[in-house]
Amino acid sequence: MSTRGGIQPVPFTKAVMMGLAEDGGLLLPRTIPRIDSQTLSSWKGLGYADLAFEVMSRFIDDIPVSDLKNLINRSYATFDAADVVPLVHCGNLHILELFHGPTLAFKDIALQFLGNLFEYLLAKSGEVLNILGATSGDTGSAAIYGVRGKDRIRIFILHPHKRVSPVQEKQMTSIMDDNVFNIAIHGSFDDGQAIVKQIFSDIEFKTALSLGAINSINWARVLAQVVYYVHSALHVSRHENDGSLAFSVPTGNFGDIFAGYIAKRMLPEGCIRQLVLATNANDILSRFVNKGDYSLGQVVQTSSPSMDIQAASNFERYLYYLLDKEPQQVAKLMAEFAATGRIDLSSHLDQIRRDFAATAVSEDEVLATIAEIYNEYDYILDPHTAVGVKAGQDHQKPGIPMVCLATAHPAKFGDAVEKAIGRPPTYPESLTGILERESRCEIMDADVDQIRDYLRKNALYR
Ligand SMILES: *Cc1c(COP(=O)(O)O)cnc(C)c1O
Repeated sequence: MSTRGGIQPVPFTKAVMMGLAEDGGLLLPRTIPRIDSQTLSSWKGLGYADLAFEVMSRFIDDIPVSDLKNLINRSYATFDAADVVPLVHCGNLHILELFHGPTLAFKDIALQFLGNLFEYLLAKSGEVLNILGATSGDTGSAAIYGVRGKDRIRIFILHPHKRVSPVQEKQMTSIMDDNVFNIAIHGSFDDGQAIVKQIFSDIEFKTALSLGAINSINWARVLAQVVYYVHSALHVSRHENDGSLAFSVPTGNFGDIFAGYIAKRMLPEGCIRQLVLATNANDILSRFVNKGDYSLGQVVQTSSPSMDIQAASNFERYLYYLLDKEPQQVAKLMAEFAATGRIDLSSHLDQIRRDFAATAVSEDEVLATIAEIYNEYDYILDPHTAVGVKAGQDHQKPGIPMVCLATAHPAKFGDAVEKAIGRPPTYPESLTGILERESRCEIMDADVDQIRDYLRKNALYR
């Protein structure tokens, strides 16, 4: 169903193809299944893909079991780590490495699955799909790797020109499959996101071009990310008294931490004790958690570009729960936000602070954290992960394990790492020579009409 209440409920696969709901809201499951302690314990011996099946199948009502298993198995076979998401320890912090997929960022976890899911659904329906998305860096490459070379799919990715790291840029633009179209726009990530939202809101155009989303607004992405929270609840030894644990999540569009919020509601009461929302200097979400003030600021560039975001596209999903599942209220507040760039939720502060804690981490703190963890544990954090680690340290409570999500491999952000520790991180084999690779990209103004024309010319038609 939609957060704004304007559509009839749809089955899972329809929600996947819809992306954004047709009333402008975001899609959510009608109910969140509960996992009791006994069921949770019974999953202890499962490998990652089998666990993913157990978790995801509880939300999926219209894909046959054997097909779903096959999709999930293929999606995680591309990861280069034993059991997909290794846990490492730095003192009393647990680092959950989510970057072992083909593009070395956590978005692969959702997008390898979504790419396979799209291909599967299109083969069944005989339809085509033109994916349109805006990226602040990592989504684009992960999305492109998710669908490159797949039948019946073309992908158009907007990124802010020269505002993604050189490695991120090359990861996207050096993919030469015919179905991949990169567009660099003169503007910020938010400009790209606004263009995508505007194009999607034109239902006639969206239908004529069979447009679909791959941004974290797609429910299937959030769902795939719920899995590693459950995985951690099984594999981190939890508080010996009450079996709880905490997570610190480097946050931009609120997709990853929202998956944690869903996991928290699914798992036994108290299992996820705390979700720490970590932002960089783009602190709209930490202001929201700490003061109830959700108001747009200017996007500032930081060493963690995938979090250089103001309007968080998944925020509305949480708003729905915060407002007691009242779609009219959500629609009203989102209209207010669209008109004024601000909503005041301070009257809900008690609930918000039960759901999250938050810290905004400065650039100096990011570098100091990378240096500290390197010096003490000989482990290199990427700047996004460092934001989460710093916030995790700030909120850690005695006896409650803190799991810090490591969202990118440090080699993707070598400059920041070198600045912090005086040497670049080691490049994994998949990035060797990447900066010298041939690339292909259109550079355009942040102008919705131009981009609409480009899509019309290059889209795949039935
Ligand atoms: C996308 C991204 C984030 C932010 O995740 P959201 O789901 O947008 O909050 C953090 N770190 C890295 C490396 C990312 O690519």
